Amino acid sequence: MIDAAVEQLLLEDPKSYVIPADIVATVTATNTLEHALMVLSKVGYTRIPVLAPDDHLQGLLSLSAVTDSLLKVPGAAVDQLSGVQVADVMQPVKRWVDDPTKLEKILNLLVDEPFLPLVTEDMIFQGIITRREILKRVNYLAHNLDREYQVTRRELDPAAENR
Ligand code: AMP
Repeated sequence: MIDAAVEQLLLEDPKSYVIPADIVATVTATNTLEHALMVLSKVGYTRIPVLAPDDHLQGLLSLSAVTDSLLKVPGAAVDQLSGVQVADVMQPVKRWVDDPTKLEKILNLLVDEPFLPLVTEDMIFQGIITRREILKRVNYLAHNLDREYQVTRRELDPAAENR
């Protein structure tokens, strides 16, 4: 369990570590891979969410899935990617959160994922929580813990040490 003081400081402003949906680069499942490749190279990210027209989160598209597809077409010609859709190569979303205050879960999942989609209960996309934004919060915590809390080292119990 996360220490209560640490949790309180990290959660002071949960909105600060959520990147809202309207500034997240996304594609739709019916977009062509040619379009998706343009989006990925423009934003410079290697994985972005795939949304339905009603903003349901449908999957994740990675640059490596697009380049794999590209290598399968004769001559690796980018224009041939216009015949393949994002839906054909996107991956399912295995990890997401529906509450930005579920810190324990967020910290555990971000060990293995560079970002987590934030969705409503019915999987409507709200934004993402990235490792970078959480690290900024942890940095804030590291510099401000003693502003609000008196942190002193506990006396070690010698008996416990010999156990
Ligand atoms: P960061 O922690 O900022 O390096 O972001 C981690 C990952 O989150 C990136 O590699 C992208 O896959 C994703 N990401 C971050 N910001 C955005 C954004 N504005 N739009 C789409 N994906 C993003």
